[in-house]
Formats: sequence, C-alpha cells, structure tokens
Amino acid sequence: MRLPGLFDRLSIRTQVTLATAALTIVLILCATLGTASYGRRIISGMVGNQMTELAISMASRLDRGMYERYREVGTIAGLDVLRDAWERDPAALRAVLDRMQTSYPDYAWIGYASKDGAVVAATKGMLEGASVAQRPWFIAGIQAPFVGDVHEALLLAKMLGPRQDEEPFRFVDVAYPVRNGSGEIVGVLGAHLSWDWATELRRSLLTRESLFASAEVSILDEKGKVLLGRNINSVILTPQQLATIRAKPSGSDLTYGEDSDRWLTSYAVGLGYRDYPGLGWVVVSQLPADVAYQPVQDLVKAILLIGIGLGVVGIALARWLAGRLTAPIYQLAHEADRIGRDDGVHTLPRVGGAREVTLLSQSLRSLLRRVGQAENRLVEAEREAVAHEAESRELALDIERLRKLSETDPLTGLLNRRAFLSAAERQLAYARRYDRALAVVVADIDHFKQVNDAHGHAAGDAVIRAVAARLQTAARDTDLVARFGGEEFVVLLMESDITAAVSYAERARGLISAAPVAAESGVQVRVTLSLGCTILSDDDRDVQDAIDRADDALYGAKAAGRNRVRVSLQALQGGAAAAS
Ligand code: GH3
Ligand code: MG
Ligand code: MG
Repeated sequence: MRLPGLFDRLSIRTQVTLATAALTIVLILCATLGTASYGRRIISGMVGNQMTELAISMASRLDRGMYERYREVGTIAGLDVLRDAWERDPAALRAVLDRMQTSYPDYAWIGYASKDGAVVAATKGMLEGASVAQRPWFIAGIQAPFVGDVHEALLLAKMLGPRQDEEPFRFVDVAYPVRNGSGEIVGVLGAHLSWDWATELRRSLLTRESLFASAEVSILDEKGKVLLGRNINSVILTPQQLATIRAKPSGSDLTYGEDSDRWLTSYAVGLGYRDYPGLGWVVVSQLPADVAYQPVQDLVKAILLIGIGLGVVGIALARWLAGRLTAPIYQLAHEADRIGRDDGVHTLPRVGGAREVTLLSQSLRSLLRRVGQAENRLVEAEREAVAHEAESRELALDIERLRKLSETDPLTGLLNRRAFLSAAERQLAYARRYDRALAVVVADIDHFKQVNDAHGHAAGDAVIRAVAARLQTAARDTDLVARFGGEEFVVLLMESDITAAVSYAERARGLISAAPVAAESGVQVRVTLSLGCTILSDDDRDVQDAIDRADDALYGAKAAGRNRVRVSLQALQGGAAAAS
C-alpha cells in the first residue's frame, strides 16, 4: 500500500521513530491490560480461597467455643456432687458458679433458677431472687438443653455497668435443665456468654496474617441478620441467598451487601460440633478489592515503568539506527548535488552502513562511470569535429593561397593573364549594365632584349619588377594591373574615358623613364615604355577585343619611335581626345 504525500514528507528516521513509539504503546497497553486482567483472575481465586479458609476457620472456632460452653454448662448441671446443693445450698452453688466465671471470663453471668423461675444462686449474687420465668432461655431450658442466639441484655445491663464502647451488652445463652436424685427437673442452669467472646475470636483470627489485617469478618444468624460486623442487626442475606448457602456450606461467590463489588467476599456456615447442633450462623469474610488487587496494581505499575523505560530506550535505539542508515543516503544526495556544479566532482563517494546502501552507492558510481564514458566519447567526437574544422579551414586557406597563387604572376605579384581576363569580364559586364566607362592600356618595355643581353637575365627580371611596381603606383587601387607575359603589361582602368586612360599612360611612362632601375648587381638600368590606349566599345565581344585594339595602338607607338603613348583609332572615333 502506498500513502502518497504523508510518508513522502516524513524522513525514514521519523517514520521509524513513530512506528517504534506506536509499537511500544501497543505493547505496553497489551502487557498492562493482560497482566491486570489475568492477575485479577489469579488473585481473586487465591484470595477467594484464603478468605473461604478464614470463614471456615472462624465458623468452626465459633462452633467449638459454643460446644465447650454448652458442654461446661451441661457438665455442671449434671454434677452428682451438686445434686443436693441445687435445692438446699445456694451459697455452695454460688461458689461453684463464681469459680466457673473466673476460669472463663467470657461468662457474663451464670445463674440457677428454680422451677418457678426465681433465681436461686448466681455469679456475684446478681439477679438472685429475681424472676426469669419469662426469659426464653428459661422457658426452653426447663424442657431440654438450649442454646439461644445473640440478644441484647435486658435485666443484666444495668448491673454490669456502662460499657467502654457504649455498645449494648449482647449475649449468647446456654441453658440446661437440672434434675434431682429421682430424675425430676427442679430448675434451670443458665449462662450468658458475652458476645465479646466472638469479637475477640475474630480479632485473634484477623491479626494472624498481614493479608487479613484489612479483612472484615461478619457473623450472621440463620435468618441473615448481622450479629457481628458492619450493619449490625440488619438483614443482609435474602432467603434465596440463604437457601443457596445452605446447599453449599462454604464458597467465594457471595454477593454481599450493597457495595459488594468493592469486596472479595467468601462465606462459611457453622455446622455445629459433636453433639452441639449449631445455630446455623453464617460467617462472611471480606477483603477490600483494592487491597486484594494491590499486588496486581504494583505489577502493572512495574510493567508500565519497565515498558516506558524499554520504550524510550527502544525509540532512542531505533532513531539512532535509522539515523545511521540514512546518513549515507543524505551524504550521497549531498554529493550528487555537487556533481556538475563544483569543479572536480565527477563521482559519488563509496559509502557503507548497510548492504543496501553499499549496493546503491556502487550502482550510482557505476552509472556515473558509464555516463562519464559516454561524455568522454562525446568530447572526443567534438574534439575531432573541431580538428576537422581547423583542418578544413587550413585547407580553405591553402585553397585561397593557391587561388591567389594561381591568379598571381610570380615575378611581379601582379595579376596573371588568366586572372585578369576573368576579372575584366566581370568588370565589363558591370560597366555595360550600368553604362560605365572602362579603359584598357597595353604596355611593352622598349628594347628589352638588349637589357637581358647587356646586364643579364636577373637584371632583366629586376627591370620587369620595377616597371610592374611603377605601373601599379600610377594606377588607382580599383584598377586591375596584369603581366601578360615577358615584358608586356595590361591595365584595366575603372570609370575611365580615353582622356583618363592617356593621362594614366603618360604618368606611367613618365615614372619609368624618369629614374633608372637598380639591378642587384649594382648597375643602373635605364628603360622606357611604349603604351597603347583604348576604351570599351559597344561592339566589343569581350575584353580581348579591346586589348587587341590597345595592342594595335601600342604597335603604333613602337613604330613611332617608342617611349610614347598611342590611342587606338576606334577610341578616337568614339569621341575621345587624342594624346601625344
Ligand atoms: P621592342 O619591343 O622594342 O621591339 O624590342 P625588344 O627587344 O623588347 O623585343 P622582343 O619582344 O623581341 O624581346 C623580348 C625579349 O625579352 C625576349 C626575351 O628573351 C626577353 N624576355 C621575355 N621574358 C623575359 C623574362 O621573364 N625575363 C627576362 N630577363 N627576359 C625576358
Ligand atoms: Mg619589348
Ligand atoms: Mg615584347
């Protein structure tokens, strides 16, 4: 699955950190919730058992205590040595009863009442002479051995004085019929057992173990009324609950009271002991749930702390690891960014930290090498192209040089015949197109053979070069000056009529005749020049026609004695002025 946007914006480090944090939180939640629920189950089982044990123990101790009192009163009531004392010796009887109370202080009162309900003898003489005929223990005890449930004292309370805790005096009654020698019932021996006895019993049980220090134990009668414990005298157990409890005399599944969910509650029913039938009391033992589950809470707290600690370490570790793994990627990105920007950065560094990172850097380096190779080939090709271009430029120069060379007379540097003719043809076409004047002058050195003969060929060459230079000097830049071979020259004069042509010819002739030429050998050679002039005619088929005409005029100049200028007749007929 791909979530666009969100993950793209988050760094790997952040993502790993978030994932680890989420995992840690889930783990901590699972661990604590699991521990809490499982721990509660275990604890409620364990504590339930212990509380049931406590209830059973309390119930059986109560039954044993009651049994002992029941037996004691029964034993005294049946003692042979007292047989005569019951009816005749109240003082002796009182002494026995006092000793009984001294040996077991929880007896609040022990007394003997005759058949008519009058108290004959009692501990400390209390109630002696009073009638107990209406007391339930007397009414029942005259018939058979009797154990009476807890009740508040009526007659005795005043005599026993105020209690320290301002609670009412409460007692359990035990009564036995007393018989004379012939087996007739003559009275009732009754004992009031202080209910503090049960309180004391409970205290001794609860302080036994630290767990029970915060436990509560209640005693209920067979109708579900509280005899000892919270909400004393109120009926807590419903008849259905009582029925269930009778069916199963002990257990830890009792819903007790209004705040039952705040307690772990167990119970046990007192089933009597030996010939003591029991009163059907129910002992309810309770431990506050928060006390019971304290170990679970401590455990959960410990797990939470350890979990948070481990989580912090785990997140830090994950962050560190992610940072370590991503650092080379950042490095690669940074270095890649410099390629093509900073001089000398052409490749990426070899980075490590993980197999994948090594692989990535290797692949990128290989990629850059291949790119570099392609680039090299490109540069090579470019260089070749440049070289090629240079070569062809040189070639063009060579060609240009050759062209120049092919157009130039090697001795004088003037145009040669071929170059002159092609250039002159172009000028001719131009002059005809725009109706421009164009003149042709032909020149020949006089008696040149003699120069050669007299001074040598080299001197002849020097003379030809000098004449060429002076012809060029006399001309304008735009004019074409050519050597046609030997010591013959042709000049094409732009924008020139016959007058201008003659003037040029005279100027050239003057330049040459005015100064001798210095040969290399040191000799001064004096030469003259003959020239023929003409202008372009409409009848001319080409430049050659005009040159021929000028040549004719040149021959005229030779014939006339040399060192002069002659104009062709045709040119003169065209209206040009004749020169000397
Ligand atoms: P004229 O023109 O006055 O009638 O007499 P000329 O002596 O100049 O006549 P010609 O045309 O017969 O002689 C030309 C000579 O020029 C012939 C040749 O030996 C010589 N010549 C031709 N070309 C060259 C050259 O390039 N260098 C030298 N030194 N001499 C040359
Ligand atoms: Mg000549
Ligand atoms: Mg000649």
